Amino acid sequence: MQTATDQTHRAEAPAKRPAKQQAVLEVLGKTRISPRLLRLTLGGEGYSALNRNESTDAYVKLLLPDPASGLHPPYDMDSLREHSPELMPARRTYTVRRWDDENQRIDVDVVLHGDGEGIAARWADEAQPGDLVAMNGAGGGYTPLPETRRHLLIGDHAALPAIAAALETMAADATGLVLVHLDHEEDRLELERPAGVELRWVIGPREALVQTARELELTDHEGLQVFCHVERGTTKQLRQVLIKDAGIPRPQVSISAYWALGRVEDQFQAEKREPIGKIED
Ligand SMILES: Cc1cc2nc3c(=O)[nH]c(=O)nc-3n(C[C@H](O)[C@H](O)[C@H](O)COP(=O)(O)OP(=O)(O)OC[C@H]3O[C@@H](n4cnc5c(N)ncnc54)[C@H](O)[C@@H]3O)c2cc1C
Repeated sequence: MQTATDQTHRAEAPAKRPAKQQAVLEVLGKTRISPRLLRLTLGGEGYSALNRNESTDAYVKLLLPDPASGLHPPYDMDSLREHSPELMPARRTYTVRRWDDENQRIDVDVVLHGDGEGIAARWADEAQPGDLVAMNGAGGGYTPLPETRRHLLIGDHAALPAIAAALETMAADATGLVLVHLDHEEDRLELERPAGVELRWVIGPREALVQTARELELTDHEGLQVFCHVERGTTKQLRQVLIKDAGIPRPQVSISAYWALGRVEDQFQAEKREPIGKIED
C-alpha cells in the first residue's frame, strides 16, 4: 500500500530520466555527391540500437566531442554533465537519407557549409573509414501520405536529403511541386521522383525562395500535404505565406527550422524555448 511518506518522497526526488540509448556506428564510406554535399555511410552492430522508423525525415543526433578530449564512444553523458561539462559532446541533427537493413547501414548527407565552420561539417569532412560515431535516435515526423493528391515540398540544402528520401517513397502517380533553395547551382542533384512532381531549384538569395512561394497558386487545399523545412528566418516567412496568407490548414503542413543563421546548433535548439526561436505565434 502506498503511504503519504512514499508520496512525499516521490515528490521530493523525481525519478532521474533514463539515459538516451546511444548507437555507436563505424564510418564505412564517404562519397562527395556534389561539391558541398558529402555522403557518409555508417554501420555495424550498433545499427540495431537505432530506433528505425518509417518517417522519410527520420533524423539522428550525432554526438561529436572535441577530438582533443580523448573521449571514446559511447559516452556517459550524465557523468560528463555532472563532472566535466566542458567535455560534453556537441549534438548535431542529420537526416537518415537511406536505411539499409540488410547490411545494417545508414547514409547521412552532410552539407559542407561555410569555410570549415561547423563542428559537424568539419567532422564529416575529416572522417575516415573505421572512425566511430555515437548517436541518439532516430526521431522523425513526416511521411508522404498515400491518400495525398498533391505534394508541396520546400527546403534548402540541409533539407535536401529529407526531400530526396520523401520523393523516393511517393506513388508513381503522385503529383506536386518541389522547391529547393541552394546557394550554388553546382550542388543541384538528380532526384528520383514521380513524373507528376515538378522540381524547381531556386539559386541565390534565400529571399528568392520566399518570393517563389508567394507566387504559387495555393487556393485549393484539399488533399494537399506540405513539407517546409529551411533556415529559421526563412521558415518564419514561409509560414506566413503558406499558413497565414494562403490559409493552408496547419495539420496539413510539416514546418520547422533546420538551422539558424549565425547560431551554432546548441544555441539554435536552446532558443526554441525563447520568442526568437519560435516559428509559431
Ligand atoms: C530534423 C533536422 C534534420 C537535418 N538534416 C540535415 C541533413 O541531412 N544534412 C545537413 O547537412 N543538415 C541537416 N540539418 C541541419 C544541421 O543540423 C545544421 O545545419 C547544423 O547546424 C550543422 O552543424 P555544424 O556543426 O556543421 O554547424 P554549427 O556549429 O551548428 O553552426 C556553425 C555556423 O554555421 C551556420 N550553419 C549551420 N548549418 C548551416 C547550413 N546548412 N548552411 C549554412 N550555414 C549553416 C550556423 O548558422 C553557424 O553560424 C538538419 C536539421 C534538423 C533539425
